[in-house]
Amino acid sequence: MVDFPEDEINISWYRPIFQQAQESITITDIKGNILMANPPALILLETTEDEIKQKNITEFYKNEETKKQIITKLQKNGILNDYKVQIITKTGTELVVNVNANPIYNSQGKILAIHTTFIDQSSIAETRRSLRDSEQRNRALVEHAPEAITVLDMETMTFVDVNQKAMELFKMDRQELLSKSPIELTPKYLPDGKQSDIVALEKINEAIAGGKPIFDWIHIDSTGRKIPCQIQLIRLPHANRTLVRGSIIDMSEKIEAEQKLKRSQMELNQEKKMEAIGRLAGGIAHDFNNTLTVILGYCELLKLELYDNQVLYDMVSEIEQAGNKSSELVRQLLTFSRKEKPAKRAVDINLIIEETASLLQHLIGEDIIVEIDLDPNIGVIEAHPTDITQILMNLVINAREAMPHGGKLKIMTKDYMWMRGTGELHESVFLFISDTGIGMEDEIQDQIFEPFFTTKSSGTGLGLSTVYGLVEELNGSIKVESEAGQGTTFQLTFPVSDSEKVDQIVPENKFDETMLQGRHIIIVEDDAYVRNLVVKFAERFGMEVTATSSPTEVIELYKTTDYDIIISDMVMPEMSGVELVSHLRDSYPDLRVLIITGYMNQPQLQKVMAKGLPVLYKPFTQQNLLNMLLQIFTDIP
Ligand code: ADP
Ligand code: MG
Repeated sequence: MVDFPEDEINISWYRPIFQQAQESITITDIKGNILMANPPALILLETTEDEIKQKNITEFYKNEETKKQIITKLQKNGILNDYKVQIITKTGTELVVNVNANPIYNSQGKILAIHTTFIDQSSIAETRRSLRDSEQRNRALVEHAPEAITVLDMETMTFVDVNQKAMELFKMDRQELLSKSPIELTPKYLPDGKQSDIVALEKINEAIAGGKPIFDWIHIDSTGRKIPCQIQLIRLPHANRTLVRGSIIDMSEKIEAEQKLKRSQMELNQEKKMEAIGRLAGGIAHDFNNTLTVILGYCELLKLELYDNQVLYDMVSEIEQAGNKSSELVRQLLTFSRKEKPAKRAVDINLIIEETASLLQHLIGEDIIVEIDLDPNIGVIEAHPTDITQILMNLVINAREAMPHGGKLKIMTKDYMWMRGTGELHESVFLFISDTGIGMEDEIQDQIFEPFFTTKSSGTGLGLSTVYGLVEELNGSIKVESEAGQGTTFQLTFPVSDSEKVDQIVPENKFDETMLQGRHIIIVEDDAYVRNLVVKFAERFGMEVTATSSPTEVIELYKTTDYDIIISDMVMPEMSGVELVSHLRDSYPDLRVLIITGYMNQPQLQKVMAKGLPVLYKPFTQQNLLNMLLQIFTDIP
């Protein structure tokens, strides 16, 4: 231990500075023996005051080379400035420190001791590194945040920082975006009609005052697309600038999802509505078809009676027209209630158009010219004939309504052969229905096939949705071409069926009507009006008629009489038409049968179809019944 030459320096004023200094300081003699070390030095070198006084400072230097260099430098320059050395602490920790050394002279200029400070570089580096790390972490937090983040400088009113998401949101690169002010990226007016710059300033001021306003906003990206978003503003701490941070959440997807949900809920409601209509229609159709059969049937009979009284004849015709219209309405409603239909068969659209033509002309009125142009080469399609009639009727009625001041309606068919990529040849039938009426704007065309969409004050909006459903059921397609004021063309396409062409309408002259004369017919129908009508019709055909309301009575009667044909209602209280027929067929396998019905539910329908029984739908005319009977007697003479 070397004595500190206290007598030669005034240690008393120096000691407090020495003790309280932040840096690590040692005082050594000129040989490096440690005389004093302050608390930071003891901490740095991981030793105690007693221990350190036993040591030479060079013992803490890691390598010999350093010791020599320090001594050389000190001897040469008198001082050592920020000299970087590696030291090893008492416990063996290696540190890099900056060493500053100064000699302490006495009054004669003789070096008494050396004052050395150590600055721990590794801890500075550590602090710097951790500062840098935390900066990078913060940067990453902002840069990869799920929301768009912008920092607005209030002095320039432009962004001074933006993250990746902000660039994506506005579809701009960083450079572009940094020159922008938020107002440039906002429409002049907000959806509520307020001026956007005024509202923006209010919100920004709220944030500057220490608030954290959250609000809905509209931004515009570089493509001009409007982005509904939610923004939160907050003031960022900064020494001499006023900075406001905005976090912007793009709400377009969420809003879209909400709208989609709303739409699907509406669709669900729509479906429920349709179901209700279906049930209602099913319920009333059965009874209504009976009444209509009677109304129309007697009209037909009356017209025959009133042959020579034009005035009364015309009146009855009016009743008949009204009845036809009602029956069309029932059929339209039924389309919704019947999910499945009787089996389709091969149908020639041309024949149906021809058959419907007279009725169509009736529907249309005289100020509209009807042109029918049928391609004789079209193939047959798989369909239910009444479907085609209904499609035609609905489209023609719309055409008429589009031409209140007259015009031209054209119905055209066209055969169309085409080849698939595979080389397969296909055949389709085109059906065009065009009018020269008021036409439609594009927005209307987009909606016309929706149920309940109508532009008419008394419209139902069910016409085209029915057509659409029917066409789809036939694996066909429908397109509309129209322009406001320029008329409308509906183009329907149906796939041609492979089956043989079948004449689905019985040409009246093909049959010998006399073959019905004298035949014995039994009719079972619980509705007295319909029953009486059939009796009247059959008598007109020269048939002998037995009528009853009870199926069991029929079975009784058959025991004694051999009838030529049985006409049976489908739905009766005692037993169904199908059950009755099955029962009778056990004893009379060659029985001729005709089922009449207004409306059948699915299980009933399947039974009838399984047995291959001919069916006549109510309401039917005398001519319909006649054709059906002639067909049956031709098939089974
Ligand atoms: P409705 O006839 O009861 O309005 P539809 O479903 O038959 O219902 O038609 C829906 C809408 O389509 C009509 O209200 C009308 O705006 C438009 N539309 C249909 N056919 C035509 C046409 N031939 N010309 C012009 N507009 C039509
Ligand atoms: Mg319509």
